[in-house]
Amino acid sequence: MIKFALAGNPNSGKTTLFNCLTGSTAHVGNWPGVTVDKREGTYKKCAEPVSIVDLPGIYSLSPYTPEEVVSRNFLLDEEPDCVINIVDVTNLERNLYLTTQILEIDVPMVVALNMMDVLEKRGDSIDERALERRLGVPVVKVSALKEEGLDELMQVAYAESKKKCIARTVLGESKLAEIIAKVQKELVAQQVEHPLFHAVKIVEGDKIECEMHPTSNGAVAQFKESFKDELFGTDFEALIADARYKYIAEHYSPLLKKTAHEWAETKSDKADKIITHKWFGIPIFLLILFAVFHVTFAEEFILSGLWGLPTLEELGLMRVDEAGELVPASFAVSLLGCFYDGLLYSPGVVLFNLTDLLTSTISDWIIGLMEGAGASQWAISFIGDGVLSGLSSVLSFVPQILTLLLLLSILEDTGYMARVAFILDRLFRRYGISGRAFIPMIMGFGCSIPAMVNTRTLLDERERTLTIRTIPFFSCGAKLPILVAVAGAVGHMTGLGDGSIISFSMYVVGMAVAFISIIVMRETTQRGDITPFIMELPPYHAPSAKGLLVHLWDKTKHYIEKVFTIILASTIVVWFLSNFGWNFKMVDVNDSILASLGKILQPLFTPLGFGSQLGESGWVFIVAAITGLIAKEEVIATFGTLAAVFAGVTVPELAAEGATDVMAMALGTGITWQALVAFIVFNMTTIPCFAAVAAAKGEVGKGKFKWTLLFWVVTSYIASSICYTVLSWWWTAFIWLAVAGAVAVGIITYNKKQTKN
Ligand code: GDP
Repeated sequence: MIKFALAGNPNSGKTTLFNCLTGSTAHVGNWPGVTVDKREGTYKKCAEPVSIVDLPGIYSLSPYTPEEVVSRNFLLDEEPDCVINIVDVTNLERNLYLTTQILEIDVPMVVALNMMDVLEKRGDSIDERALERRLGVPVVKVSALKEEGLDELMQVAYAESKKKCIARTVLGESKLAEIIAKVQKELVAQQVEHPLFHAVKIVEGDKIECEMHPTSNGAVAQFKESFKDELFGTDFEALIADARYKYIAEHYSPLLKKTAHEWAETKSDKADKIITHKWFGIPIFLLILFAVFHVTFAEEFILSGLWGLPTLEELGLMRVDEAGELVPASFAVSLLGCFYDGLLYSPGVVLFNLTDLLTSTISDWIIGLMEGAGASQWAISFIGDGVLSGLSSVLSFVPQILTLLLLLSILEDTGYMARVAFILDRLFRRYGISGRAFIPMIMGFGCSIPAMVNTRTLLDERERTLTIRTIPFFSCGAKLPILVAVAGAVGHMTGLGDGSIISFSMYVVGMAVAFISIIVMRETTQRGDITPFIMELPPYHAPSAKGLLVHLWDKTKHYIEKVFTIILASTIVVWFLSNFGWNFKMVDVNDSILASLGKILQPLFTPLGFGSQLGESGWVFIVAAITGLIAKEEVIATFGTLAAVFAGVTVPELAAEGATDVMAMALGTGITWQALVAFIVFNMTTIPCFAAVAAAKGEVGKGKFKWTLLFWVVTSYIASSICYTVLSWWWTAFIWLAVAGAVAVGIITYNKKQTKN
């Protein structure tokens, strides 16, 4: 199959183009560094199928970042049949800088001028035919977002791939042209492939190249002796970069005709003055984050509790059923109750209620059928408690997870998240974390695994290690059910009513734990310099509905798959272990296999508030946390299964109250709300799910992996002990502060001693 490579600057629209061409659904983000590895797909509308490889976004072909090395090696060694160089026309000069370098490789190339829609909207125009003549390669105008010009692009690229290509350079007029030509000649004599490209790089003093072609170094060194530029001395790398930019400014830039507008930029700039402001930046970020959580979690949407609206009961829409309970008078009222009951629910909660109504109606129907058919008691328990209640408790969170992901994707797509990385860089650079590390961390809100893979963009090994370790603290989508369910219960118990404030605080606690542990690691095991962080801030723009939907659909599919495979399987195991004793007969839950295992570990969790102090049935929290190691949703699935068992055994009156699973567990065990908060913190900061652990192992390497596991265990233990003790007895804060102070003094003195030696 013939092979085309997509190469271009970060944020030039490569992923969007790749997705359109191949029908794939890779994640599109409005910030640099989303693609670290190359991706492959197939385009089928040419005369023959074409394999398309999406290379990581790069600004140049120098060997300074992992993305550059991956892209460069691919272009040189794998010799694609054609390179589609995607150029963001709204940033023409910077994008063409890379183009001038790809021109020097012996590979057919087509330039795709992307974001034409933006250019045209501004009323600007570009003479692409003239650009084509001056570059010497075909140029096609496209808009990846609007899917315009893509077929033409592929036809042109296909035709080009059949032609022979001769490399060319824009450095012909530079002061270094002579030495470049000389080295090129030597390389041609040695039958080196891509002689022009290598010659330029050798003259630049590129480390990899100089090692690869030692014979040519002599000529360059000799030339250097008699050479001196007023501005750059003998810094040939700078000289060449300068020559490229000059050439672009002189020959290419004038082809872009701008009308007097500039407003689009100034609008973004104006917004940035406030949004990335030194003092307001962080509060605005927290405010936006809070708004996101409010929309996702709030039962009392926009303070609707204060509006004095009547409840459904007061409206006379409820009736008393045979069991003497107050229930909705009709299905229509149940439906209305998903949106409103004296309070206006937030969109996330509405969706949650609707799914919950659906899954519980289906569950009841199935159980009804089984009872009608005279199914045995254990079969009903197995299907009802084991399968249905576990699954439905996880499934009802799907809409809320999606709401949260949708809102975060919007923030990312508009370009706001790139600003967050920038704001955080300014704040935390002095503590040893750069903005580059924040991009994967923020990605961790979606899922830890791609975020860990994304850390490959970090050059410094230690910065990479500590980023991977802290990514799980940026609570992922799968941890959201734990948050909602437990925070909801805490809300009821504390009278804070609404889970959204608690959920939001928990996210903040997670981030705080991440920052504190980074600072500690930077001062102890992971010392080192931080790499400079240079990132362009992409202009703000409206997110594309299609991109968002594709992304959400991808996540939904993944989530549902997970529910019906790994979660279903482990739920069944939990049901079995919680219903059977070591003699393999059905027993009371407190005598079950699961209980006996949980009880062994119980004392360990006493400082965290959910250990021995909970007595007989307190083991359930430990079991739930442990099943969370399989997948984080499993914590709530386990609660679902165990609460169903509990409802029949310990607290039958709870079902009547309609309490959530967690409330059932809380009343059943007598756990305090402080311990529940500690429980959330523990789950958020401890070892992540299996899949993420495997990803971390692959990324940090064997040697550091065991320390990484230990780090997670210790951090979660300390963080949740602090939460539990300080929330329960405020004065213990002083003890913790004293301990922290002592540790800090210890580290500082030790470090001072080390530097003296
Ligand atoms: P990559 O970093 O090069 O892979 O770029 P992406 O494909 O992630 O795109 C970066 C941003 O530019 C996303 O927000 C896209 O929606 C947007 N984008 C991509 N192509 C176009 C286009 O042709 N027109 C407009 N207006 N936006 C685009």
